Amino acid sequence: MRNIRTLLLAALLVLSAAACDPEDRKIIIPDDNGGGGGSQNGDYTAVTASPKAFDGTKRADITYQLLVYSFADSDGDGWGDIKGITQHLDYLDAMGASALWLSPIHPSDSYHGYDVRDYFSIHPKLGTEADFQELINKAHQKNIKIYLDYVLNHSGTGCDWFKQACASASSPYRDYYLLSSDPAADISAGKFPSLSGYDAGKWHTVSSTEGLGYTGRLHFKLDWSAKTVTVTETTAAAQASNTDSSVNLYIYYGNDKIARLYKTGTNIYEITLDFASDWGFLVRTSSTSWDNGTKYGASGDTKITFGQAKTLTNSSSAANITFGSALYYYGAFGSWMPDFHYGSASTASGSAAFTSLAASADKWINMGVDGFRLDAVIFIYEKNAPSANATFLKSWYDRCNSTFKAAGGSGDIYMVGEAWTDAGTISQYYKGLPALFDFPYWDKLSWALNNATGRYFCKDVIDLRNTYRSGRSDFIEATKLTNHDQTRAATTLGRSLPKEKMAACVLLTSPGNPYIYQGEELGYWGKKGEDGGADEQVRTPVKWTKSGGVPASWTSASNIDSGMLSANISVEAQDADSESLLNVYKRFAQVRNTYPALASGEISKHGTYNDSNATDQEIAAWYMTSGGEKLLVIHNFSSKEKTLSLEGDKLSDAIALNGEASVKGSSLRLGAWSSVVFLQ
Ligand code: MG
Repeated sequence: MRNIRTLLLAALLVLSAAACDPEDRKIIIPDDNGGGGGSQNGDYTAVTASPKAFDGTKRADITYQLLVYSFADSDGDGWGDIKGITQHLDYLDAMGASALWLSPIHPSDSYHGYDVRDYFSIHPKLGTEADFQELINKAHQKNIKIYLDYVLNHSGTGCDWFKQACASASSPYRDYYLLSSDPAADISAGKFPSLSGYDAGKWHTVSSTEGLGYTGRLHFKLDWSAKTVTVTETTAAAQASNTDSSVNLYIYYGNDKIARLYKTGTNIYEITLDFASDWGFLVRTSSTSWDNGTKYGASGDTKITFGQAKTLTNSSSAANITFGSALYYYGAFGSWMPDFHYGSASTASGSAAFTSLAASADKWINMGVDGFRLDAVIFIYEKNAPSANATFLKSWYDRCNSTFKAAGGSGDIYMVGEAWTDAGTISQYYKGLPALFDFPYWDKLSWALNNATGRYFCKDVIDLRNTYRSGRSDFIEATKLTNHDQTRAATTLGRSLPKEKMAACVLLTSPGNPYIYQGEELGYWGKKGEDGGADEQVRTPVKWTKSGGVPASWTSASNIDSGMLSANISVEAQDADSESLLNVYKRFAQVRNTYPALASGEISKHGTYNDSNATDQEIAAWYMTSGGEKLLVIHNFSSKEKTLSLEGDKLSDAIALNGEASVKGSSLRLGAWSSVVFLQ
């Protein structure tokens, strides 16, 4: 029975693993009864970590991702704000952060800010420019950089550029967006080089009436038997409305603009009008009742062609008959987010939209902003992606970098892209940007933790880095667990605190430049919308004190699991508990900032505990090396103690520990879900 059960479980795990990892990986179920190594005895000496004193230099480029709207509310208006960040810089400093990624700060119509209304200003709910300048200055005093989230793929429909673009064909903003009265034809003609084809679901109707109406003299002829209307331009004399009340057929073309037709034959009715309407016309069977029974209009294509009979439809969905086609705009993410139009990628930097967006970026760089996180970079060019996007991004980077240097910035400006895709594709985006999020890293790590299988992890990281290196020799791998668009790490790890701590320890002992996402350090949980939750569930505000509240707009949000806002999860409570998740983050971050081999070193495999070692597959081990400094990193990805033989490694100088470890000679006992780092 036991064997059958194990086989079934193994098959299930392999099947579930296959979804996130294409490699054929052998899974062994850990012992049901946990500890397999017995209790420690006097022969083993407990390991204690004694890192050298932190000298205050943050070497590790740790970035904290925060949501301005939910991080900290300074004025009690129910929303997080910029002053709230300034007031908590000590917290971020203690987390070892040398940079902050702020969610979009611009005015927008959503709470999250990814539908920008004005790239040149700050949402009043979040604060003022003076508040922002103060944040930059005070953050810089603590050697914390400020990165702004910038949305280059689209604005919001509330953006004045978009409103003006839609209002008039002669608007200087018309070229900022993908606007067309015949998208399919314009795409075929090559007018929109960013699009790979016509996708009706991503084209939205402009609510303006531009191009739909007509002004001039027109002749209308109704064949009431065939239910058709024929319109022709004419120079014949215009007629007044027919006064014969026995005829109940009208041309309706605006407020107080309704004309009764003349009967000119059997079922034939006609009139010549000095016509003026900005939306078109309808045929009505009443001049006083506007219910749908009296309405005759178009179905499908609304446009009339002069001289050709157009069939009328009498239904509640009958549309206005128009003289031109409606205007449409492209919005890949939805009707409230119209995409920008940059023309061809090779000449994008000369486009009107690019020029204005770059001018807005200049403003923030000149205020002291140190870099940008670029949203949705794989969507800017859907055609010839990723090469067109990389070309565009390099133009954007170079432009911002020249402003940064002119403003006296040291080195090059930082810029990280959200290219949420596979490693091979990500590598191609390194041709455009110095830094990219390593989304596959969390896929590998969460798989390893949930399958108690550490042996592949080092190889996985090395493979990822080699892939990225093929795109750029000085690539910056922005490692992370999750972000505001993903189901929380804690949820993916089954709300297991030991696993959450281990994820923190692995992140902070891996190569790359790690990001910590607001709330991850507190163990916040939640499912993203597409996983059956709601976006707000993964964007919970920080509860700073045991007794204090959180921004009021969030406590009332039904989407938030209030369990996260309990006293024992608060920053105050976790600060006071040396073994809290928060303190594991702080401790490992400080060690990472202390030792260059962790901060910026390269990873290499351990000789024994690696992907080939099926016997000890729970173990993830590697070396981190920088200059003459070498560290041995070992994690036990399982719920059972492991005894490891580490001949050739130095086990006398532990600099970081989470969980339990003890040493006897070259033998290491590593407790369940425990991590240790030894200086070599
Ligand atoms: Mg506020």
